[in-house]
Amino acid sequence: MTLRESIIQKLEDNGFRITGSRVKLVDSLIKHEEGFTAEELVTEVREAGRATVYRTIRLLVDQGVLCKLAMDSGAPRYTVSGMAHHHHIICVHCGSVREFRQTVIERALKSMEDDDGDTVVGHRIEVFVLCAACRAAGAKVDSIRAEHQHS
Ligand SMILES: [Zn+2]
Ligand SMILES: [Zn+2]
Ligand SMILES: [Zn+2]
Repeated sequence: MTLRESIIQKLEDNGFRITGSRVKLVDSLIKHEEGFTAEELVTEVREAGRATVYRTIRLLVDQGVLCKLAMDSGAPRYTVSGMAHHHHIICVHCGSVREFRQTVIERALKSMEDDDGDTVVGHRIEVFVLCAACRAAGAKVDSIRAEHQHS
């Protein structure tokens, strides 16, 4: 089953009617490999309507199909979830999102549990960067501002 088919099936399973505009919506969000905002989809798939776009996104986040990323500056961004367990690298300039997973980090977090006797039930890691494309285009980020993105 393709990603497109599996997303459409998830929508159907949850009682969403599969209309032409909803299929367009799915096609549009798959295309955005580096993430998108809800308003971008509203603009791209005008026939779907704002309420439908937001409702569909919310369901896909609940179903684990989309990751929702809170951004310090502006609206949250969404990406189609690839790997089961992963973290995000986000460009503070253009907002592009990539996934990563590092065994070393996972192991370090696991050992925290052993040390403190706490039961770790989950974690979230977001790494903020100035991506290669933005750097090549001459973008600069004030280091103090970048630091703030962490907290
Ligand atoms: Zn993700
Ligand atoms: Zn960038
Ligand atoms: Zn992890």
